[in-house]
Amino acid sequence: MKKTYYDDWRVVIVIAPRATTPIRISALGFDGLDSHLDGTLDGAPFEITVAPRPLGDFGFGTMSDSLASRDVDGDYRRRCEAMLAELLRKPHVKSGRVACTETHVCSHCDLGWEVLTAEEAADPAYRQDEHSVEGEPVCCEKAIAEFRSERGIPALAPMGGAV
Ligand SMILES: [Zn+2]
Repeated sequence: MKKTYYDDWRVVIVIAPRATTPIRISALGFDGLDSHLDGTLDGAPFEITVAPRPLGDFGFGTMSDSLASRDVDGDYRRRCEAMLAELLRKPHVKSGRVACTETHVCSHCDLGWEVLTAEEAADPAYRQDEHSVEGEPVCCEKAIAEFRSERGIPALAPMGGAV
C-alpha cells in the first residue's frame, strides 16, 4: 500500500516591503552596517521560505529528530504553524502558509508509488491483464495483489504466464 513520508517542513511568507513599518536591511542579516547606511527595504511584495529550527536543536546541543520527538511530523507541523501565526502578526507579513514535501512509496518494495491512469488501465501496453483498473499500483506484484484482494479483483496469473 501507499506510504507517505513528509519532509522539508517550512513556512512560506509574503513580505510587503512598503507596509507601514519599514524593514531595515540590518534585520535581514546584513549586520555590521553603520547606522546611517542601514536603509529600508523597498519594492514589490516577495516570498521567503523559512526553515524551522530542527526539533533536536536545543541550543546547548543537538540530537536527531527521532530522538527528540515521538511525533516528528506532528511536531514540525505544530512548530511551523506556531511560527506562521507569530509572523502573521507582523505588519509587513501579508500572508503565509506551512509547506512540506510529500513522498509516496510502496510499503512492499519502497519504490515510488505510481498507479495506472484510466487510459493506461485500458491500454494493453500498460495493464497487467484484462482485470487491471484505474488506480492499480505498478511497482510490484505484492502491491498489485494487495490492491486486488481489497477490491475483490481476480489475482494476477502466476509468473511465467501471460504478462
Ligand atoms: Zn511495490
